[in-house]
Order: sequence, then C-alpha cells, then structure tokens
Amino acid sequence: MSSPEPTVLIIGAGTFGTSTAYHLSHQYKDPSRITIFDRWDPKAPLQDKQAAAIDTNRIIRTDYESSMYCDLANEAIHPWFWNIAVQGHFQKTGWVVLDKQGGEFAAKVKQCFIKRGGDYTRDVDREELESKHGVLKGLCKGELGTGYFNPEAGWCDAESATTSFLKVAINNGVKRVTGEITELLLDAKKSRIVGAKTSSGQMFYADKIVLAAGAWTSALLSPMEDLLNISEKDRIERQITAVGRLSAYYSLSESETQSLIDENMPIVVIGGFVDIIPPSQPNRTLKINDLKTEVINTITTSSGKKITAPRLASQSHVPEKLKTQGLSVISKAIPDFTSKNSPARWRICYDAVTPTEDWLLTRHPHPSLSNLTVATGGSFHSYKFLPVAGKYISKVIKGERLSEEMEKAWRWKSEQELKRSGGLEFGAKQGRERVELGGYDGNVAKL
Ligand SMILES: Cc1cc2nc3c(=O)[nH]c(=O)nc-3n(C[C@H](O)[C@H](O)[C@H](O)COP(=O)(O)OP(=O)(O)OC[C@H]3O[C@@H](n4cnc5c(N)ncnc54)[C@H](O)[C@@H]3O)c2cc1C
Repeated sequence: MSSPEPTVLIIGAGTFGTSTAYHLSHQYKDPSRITIFDRWDPKAPLQDKQAAAIDTNRIIRTDYESSMYCDLANEAIHPWFWNIAVQGHFQKTGWVVLDKQGGEFAAKVKQCFIKRGGDYTRDVDREELESKHGVLKGLCKGELGTGYFNPEAGWCDAESATTSFLKVAINNGVKRVTGEITELLLDAKKSRIVGAKTSSGQMFYADKIVLAAGAWTSALLSPMEDLLNISEKDRIERQITAVGRLSAYYSLSESETQSLIDENMPIVVIGGFVDIIPPSQPNRTLKINDLKTEVINTITTSSGKKITAPRLASQSHVPEKLKTQGLSVISKAIPDFTSKNSPARWRICYDAVTPTEDWLLTRHPHPSLSNLTVATGGSFHSYKFLPVAGKYISKVIKGERLSEEMEKAWRWKSEQELKRSGGLEFGAKQGRERVELGGYDGNVAKL
C-alpha cells in the first residue's frame, strides 16, 4: 500500500501561496490534505486585504531583459489569455515602455525578443503618445529617451483573478483558513518544523510547510531563527527586504473612462519613475505607481534583531509627507493630468525584494527546517507569474530538481551572490530612494 500524500500547510494566500494551492490541487489525489492560510477574509473589501496579490490591477507582460524570466512570463501569459478559471480579469491594452534618457531597458528587452525569434514591438515616442492621449500631456517633458509599444501586454484585476485561482483550488478540495499565524512550531528535539500556531491559539500541523508570506516573511521566520541560533549572515533578512511602494488612485467619471477606453490608451511605464495604468468601466480608476520612492519599516524584535516588515496599520494610511513626496514624482511624470485631478485614495503596498530581484524559492538551508519551503522575493514584478509559479514551487516542495538556471537564480544566496547586480523589474536600478517610513511621521514601530 502506498503511503499517504504528505500534508501541506501554505502560509499566505497571495501570489505564491495561491499558485501553490492551485497547482498542488491538480496534482494531489486528495487535495483536502492541503491547507492554505491567510489573515484576511476572502469576503472582505479590497482595501482590507493587505497582500501584494490584491489590488485594482497588476501589469501582465513578457518584457524582460533576462531570457529566463521572459520565457517564464511567456509561459504565464497564455493562461492569462486562455485559462477559463481566470477569464474576464485580463485587459489586453498593450503597454508602452519609455526609458529615461540614457536608459537601456527598452533596447535590452527588444534584444531578448529578437533572440527568442520575434520582436513584435514597434517604436513609439512621447509626441505620438501625447497627441493620441490627452491625459498624458506633458509626459516627463524633455527627459525621455527611446520607447516602444508591445501589444501583447495588459493588466489584470488582481483581486478577482487571485480569488478565481484560489476558488479552483478550493473547489478541488484545498482547505482555506482565515487566521493570523503568529508562530512556526518545531518538534521537541528542534529537529523539524511541524506546524504553525494562530493568534487564537489554534495549532495546525503538517508534514510540509510553505512560507509564502511575502513582505511578512522575515517577521514570521525571525523568532524561529532565534530559537535555532541562526547567525546574522544566514538569516532571511539578508535574502529579502520588505519594501513599500506608493500607488495613487484617481477616480474618473463614466465618460472620462469611456474616452480612454475608446482611444485604446495603453499602460505607460517610465522605468524607475512611474507606471500609469488605464481604467476599465467597472473600476473607473487611473492608477499611477510611484516607482522612485521606496519605503522600509525597520523593526527591532524582542531579541534585539533588526528586521523589515510592513506596518501593522492599514496600507491605505499613508503619511501626508509621503503623499507629498509621491505627488512630486507623479506630477513631474504626468503634469497636466495631476494639476487638474487629485488622488481619491493612496496605498503603500509591500513586497519582499531580493538584492538581485530574483525569487527566493528553496527549501530552507538549516537542517531543522528542511521541510520548510520558502517561496517569496516577488520584487515588485511577480504577480504575472500567478498562473505558473506554483508549478515550480510544488517541485521544490516535493524535492524535485528545477533547471540549473532556475536553481541558481532562486536559491538561498551566498554573500557573494547577493552582491551580483540585479535589475529584473525594469533593468538597471535608476535613482530609487529607499527611506525609512518612520521618517515621514516619526512613528517607529515595535514588533
Ligand atoms: C505597488 C506594487 C505594484 C506591483 N505591480 C506589479 C505588476 O504590475 N505586475 C507584476 O507582475 N507584479 C507587480 N507587483 C509585484 C507582485 O504583486 C508581488 O511580487 C507578488 O504579489 C508577491 O507575492 P507573494 O505571495 O510573495 O506576496 P503577497 O501577494 O503579498 O502575499 C503574501 C500573503 O501572506 C499573507 N500573510 C503574511 N503573513 C501572514 C501571517 N502571519 N498570517 C497569515 N497570513 C499572512 C498576507 O496577508 C498576504 O496575503 C507589484 C507589487 C506592488 C507592491
């Protein structure tokens, strides 16, 4: 008689956790042996679900300088187009990428496309964009270099799509539990991780644990690292940093929305500066992400360790000084529109960012944590992989090999490897300012 399938506890129902549940639910004979946890109630309003995987929209594109991520994004984009489970959430608006003067992202992406056998982009410049789309009048005046339009891109409603993927997993038998995990549990000999405890004191046990807690990964892992006396250089905080970025949401009228839809306004991205995501009729929201201002919230844990983690407050509470800084970036990028309109709301959304902007997808290297799979490091560019990430995460959970290239990119990195310059989101990092969130309102958080 074959042994039963190992039970799996997935912590976090964001991009990596949901994708894991989705894929495992198709691989398991008995998917009820899989449990996925998240602190937010699936029925709660969008603003109460604090996950990078939940937002009005996320950009879906295949454009990467790296052929590995370009391949992966091509693998992911087909389900966005065709998978019945997520149909209706994707808007194929195309996207325009404009580099600031001297930027090389556009040229390198095109090189990557050519190597793969087809560059389906066409050149575009600021004048052309402004004459077609009045909302973009004055776009980054005088500061832009070359750019292109790729019709094979768009954006996705990242609340409904994440929910749809998880619904498939739940319909297949996966259990979804709402609760805050406060502690990871070791066995009596400290030789193996056995489960997790919730804020209400409930214990959940499993053979294998998947930590897919995004920007909250360090907060969960740090007490376990204390318990196992893991040295500073081998702790998770060296691998990832919880970083927040600002999004401004501008409400539009039905007719303003319709005219942007009728003129086929694409997504517009100025690498390292802003991205502008057009509205749909249901959301009537023009969203602008400030890609320049990045915040971190450093916490001193009870054992005296410095870690980064999102603030406990709602992500919609953005300090006024930070809004002013965000506006100064956004209004420089799109001056005409922002002089006439104010954001209806703001958000600081956090992601776990790795120094190289690669994922961190690996079994934990400590021998007592070998049944813990860490799946994080979305680095502001990984929502698009929701349809496929779980395929690779489930391999790691089962101890199967990935390609050499993936293992190298996603492993727990040495000091030397962490120094390798990254730059996957929009090529080489351009003038980002990472500042302490407490500097904006004097609030220094404690765990
Ligand atoms: C502003 C912004 C814009 C972005 N734009 C894009 C884009 O356009 N395109 C793109 O492809 N990617 C984009 N991304 C990146 C993408 O959203 C992330 O890389 C991805 O969602 C990360 O997935 P994750 O599963 O690691 O984290 P998340 O999606 O944040 O999920 C982590 C989950 O873990 C849960 N959790 C954490 N701790 C606990 C606990 N103790 N108990 C219970 N539950 C817990 C959280 O509630 C959360 O639901 C963007 C990210 C941000 C922040």
